[in-house]
Amino acid sequence: MPRAVQRPLLPSAHQLLPYLSRIDESRIYSNRGPLVELLEMRLSKLFGCPQLALITTSSGSSALEAAILAHAGQRTSQRPLAILPAYTFAGTAHSAIRCGYDILVMDVDADTWMLNPESLTSHPDFERVGVVVPVAPHGSLPDITAWEKFQSDTNCPVVIDAAASFEQFKNGRARISATVPTSLSLHATKPFSTGEGGAVLCTSYDVLERVGRTINFGFDDDRNSKFAALNGKMSEYQAAVGLAFLDNWDTLTGQRMSVSEQYHTCLSGCDLGRLVTQPQIGSTYTLFDCRTSDIAKDLTRRLAENDVPHRFWYSSGLSGHYAFESGYFEPSPVTQDISVKHIGLPTMPDLDKAVITAISELILNSSACQGD
Ligand SMILES: *Cc1c(COP(=O)(O)O)cnc(C)c1O
Repeated sequence: MPRAVQRPLLPSAHQLLPYLSRIDESRIYSNRGPLVELLEMRLSKLFGCPQLALITTSSGSSALEAAILAHAGQRTSQRPLAILPAYTFAGTAHSAIRCGYDILVMDVDADTWMLNPESLTSHPDFERVGVVVPVAPHGSLPDITAWEKFQSDTNCPVVIDAAASFEQFKNGRARISATVPTSLSLHATKPFSTGEGGAVLCTSYDVLERVGRTINFGFDDDRNSKFAALNGKMSEYQAAVGLAFLDNWDTLTGQRMSVSEQYHTCLSGCDLGRLVTQPQIGSTYTLFDCRTSDIAKDLTRRLAENDVPHRFWYSSGLSGHYAFESGYFEPSPVTQDISVKHIGLPTMPDLDKAVITAISELILNSSACQGD
């Protein structure tokens, strides 16, 4: 059995060496060096955009913070609230709070696992909302068009947290917006990684330019800091990892594809729930979406007894974390229900077929034992 639910595989020292040598030559280590510019150009092309379509950052969290500050600004006394979905990783809430907002946490839709734009405007406090941060959970496909419409109808700024959704943009299922900035995480557990890192996607030059200044202390050309900002720049070393990762992309994609195919082959017809993998979600995740919470409880126990690493990626949703106790929480029955039913199974590019078969058999046998 693998020791952890994920064991990321990033470029080797050997693959990094040519890029590291370029850093030795340039003696540029950060502040938009040549490797960062090359990575941004290569990624923009990969996403099918002729012009610069993204700006890289030091992490997914700094990408989200910079996008909120650049697009919506800090909290104001008239608009102190940020709407977030209950079903997300704690990082989403931390980023909104660090921009000064009080969080207003709302439930997600049972089918999409995401905020429904149509259910927000009827909230009694909607007039006091300064930003909405919808999340595309587990690298799923964000509804860019719906949020563009929501933003233009309501004049309320939207920033999408699509942390793990790199492949949705790469495969052309998601479109990069000119009006709604979207953040990615390039953490080691995400499908495309620079170790730690992130990016803000937007096809508007003005938005990217503002994000670029926001991750560099709000400096203009005159080194005068003009607005609320942070240090969120990607370093040349991170960019080196990203460039080597891109060189390796096709091989890695093949390996990841065969892992999810093997899971599907083994678990097709399992009546305890359904398997959710790429392309619905990011390729670094395999979710078993149990039919009921009782099944999930039973299955979790069996996985633990057999030393199969597994994880509830979003714990019990944002309401479960002490750090967010002062937030405003709407009732979230959907999040309470799905967060305990989505079991994250071991996923890594070099996961042995025999191991996948063994994990699947455990799940299938658990099916036969239901009703013990
Ligand atoms: C990973 C993740 C983040 C945080 O990204 P970091 O790169 O770890 O800072 C934020 N939101 C979601 C939904 C994530 O999955």
